This record gives sequence, structure tokens and C-alpha cells, in this order.
Amino acid sequence: MTEQPESVREIRINPIVPSESVLVSTARGMRPRKDEAPAPRDTRKHVDRCPFCKGNEHMTPPTVAASPGEEGWSVRVVENLYPVLGDDSRSGNLVFGLQQAIEGYGRHEVIIDHPEHGVAIQDMSEDHLFRLTGVYRDRIRSLYETDERIQYVLVFKNFGPAAGASIPHTHSQVVAMPVVPENVYNEVTHSRRYFEKSRQCIFCSLIDEALTFEAKIYDRESGAIRRQIDVGQYVIERGEHFVAIKPFASRYEWEIHILPLKHSSDFVNINDAERHDLARVLKHSMQRLDAVIGGAQYNFFLHSIPHNNEFADCDASYHWHLEICPRTSIPTGFELGSGLFVSTISPEQAAQQLRAVEID
Ligand SMILES: [Zn+2]
Ligand SMILES: [Zn+2]
Ligand SMILES: [Zn+2]
Repeated sequence: MTEQPESVREIRINPIVPSESVLVSTARGMRPRKDEAPAPRDTRKHVDRCPFCKGNEHMTPPTVAASPGEEGWSVRVVENLYPVLGDDSRSGNLVFGLQQAIEGYGRHEVIIDHPEHGVAIQDMSEDHLFRLTGVYRDRIRSLYETDERIQYVLVFKNFGPAAGASIPHTHSQVVAMPVVPENVYNEVTHSRRYFEKSRQCIFCSLIDEALTFEAKIYDRESGAIRRQIDVGQYVIERGEHFVAIKPFASRYEWEIHILPLKHSSDFVNINDAERHDLARVLKHSMQRLDAVIGGAQYNFFLHSIPHNNEFADCDASYHWHLEICPRTSIPTGFELGSGLFVSTISPEQAAQQLRAVEID
């Protein structure tokens, strides 16, 4: 086990999107942020007035899809009552000087993750998570197929009011949009550039590094070890097909990324064996987070290759992943104004704490 240095203060550049960086500053008194109070968990099984609870199906828009079927559903998909994008706009793109707007065309659906009201991801069975990720895959595929204007289908989950969840019943959302969202755009273009130079997928390289890299960084003057990078230092959970890692330069202190070990650009190509393993790695990662930060409010979202012509050549350079971003503190003006996020725990320490949780 490596001795953690007394304190770390350094700016780390995101290796995938170099324009994103994080200030890791673990020194006491460097807490610019206010802690986000953990949301009280609503663990009720059934709530009479909740539109997403079983038996209240008449309170939602009609079912778009359900698994295993509409009767006795375990996962149910409905249109969002308040879509951020809808299909009624036919105005075309608006351009006025430097101001451009793309018509707000798209689809917005809600995935009711589970019939029980207050069950958290880590409490769902692996079989259920297998089913849920199957619904994610089917909705993404179907939305791409129904309209060729759709360039990206984003699946995400908000859990807890700080993460933007307005309905407490556990749910995910799917937004099909006519543009590629900036975060994905940046990842895809930067990883393509990396591939052009090195003929390697940067995500695969990072996984290899996370699994095998070992290095000592010495102080130039004294010769003392300044930092030691251990094997598996960033690995939180390893399955047969997936790995959960704590990124070296992540904006959120407890951020976890889950990636397939075998290179794959598109989540919709996931097979059943992989999906079983994903269910296990996801459940364990959420159990670890819950044990360490307790009652976490978080967002998670799937980043997968966009379905458009611009990125048709990115199969070898892009690598899909799931990003889990717990909201443990409120970003400060400094962070929002500078884009430089501050992490008061080093990613190495965070990974170590998450890894140390005993999973039954
Ligand atoms: Zn409910
Ligand atoms: Zn890869
Ligand atoms: Zn990403």
C-alpha cells in the first residue's frame, strides 16, 4: 500500500478532453465548496398518488414499451409529460447573425426503472438490472431507427433533488436529439485525433494503464518518491467484461466510469453475457458509492458513438462508457466561472476508499 502524500495540489488535465481540467487540492482549508446534504431516501414501496407506481398506469401518458410486457411489467417506458424536445416543431433551423438555433425536434421518454417506488439501483437484483439495460438498448436502437434526423440518443438518470430528479420514483430518461451534445462531441473528436496520431483507442489505453501501469515519480532535487502509481490504483471493480474506474482527472469527487474491457464504440451492440456482467459491475459500484458517501444523489449517463455521418469513421477510436457523477457538493462561482472544478479528495484516495468496501 502506498503512503498518500500529505496533500496534493495540482491541476490535472482530462486525458480524453484536454480542455477539461480539475484542480486536485486536498490541503485542509481548501474547501471552497458547500457540502450537498444527502437527500433523505424515500424507501416506500408504494405511494398511492405516484404516477409511476404499479397500479397507477392510468396517471401517465400511454406506454411506449414495457418489459417483459405491459401486463406485469418490471420496466415501463412512457412519453415524458414535459418533454425538453418534442416532435411538433417544423420551423427549421433559425439563423440570425451569430445566433443559431436548431429546431427543438426530438423525443423525450421516461423509463420507470422498477415497479417499486423507492428502490435504489444498488438494491435492485442483477436480473432486474440486466432487464433495465436491455430496455436502454432497445429504446436507443428504436429511436435511431424511427427518425434519421436523430443524431444522438442520450440515456441518463437523475437520482435525488440535487441531481435534478423531480419525481422521487426511481426512473431514467431517454432524450433523442437532432444534435450531438457537447460532452459527447468533445470526447468523440478528441479521441479521433488521438487515434489518428497513435492508431490506438485512448479509452483502451487508459484501461490498460489502469490495470497495469506502475510508476514512481521522484523529486528532482531530493530524490525522494513524490508519487507512486500502483497497479490497479484507479480500479474500483473488475468484472469479466467490464471495469469500473475512478478517472485520474474527474470533475466530481466520487465520479466513477464503467467501460467495457473489450473495445466497442456502440452500447447498442452489447451482448447478453456482457449485459449480465454490466449489471453486476453497476450494482457493485453503486453499493460501494452508497457505503462510502451514504444517500448519494447522482446523475449517470451513457456515452456512446453518435449515429451521424460526421462520426461514421470513429468506430475504432471511440469507446462507449457509463459515467456516474455523484453530487456531493454545490459547484462554486469559481468553478462555474472558470470551468476548473475543484476536487478536495484525490482520485487515488477516493478509489481506495471505494475499493475497500466489502461487498457481500
Ligand atoms: Zn412511485
Ligand atoms: Zn477502446
Ligand atoms: Zn463520457
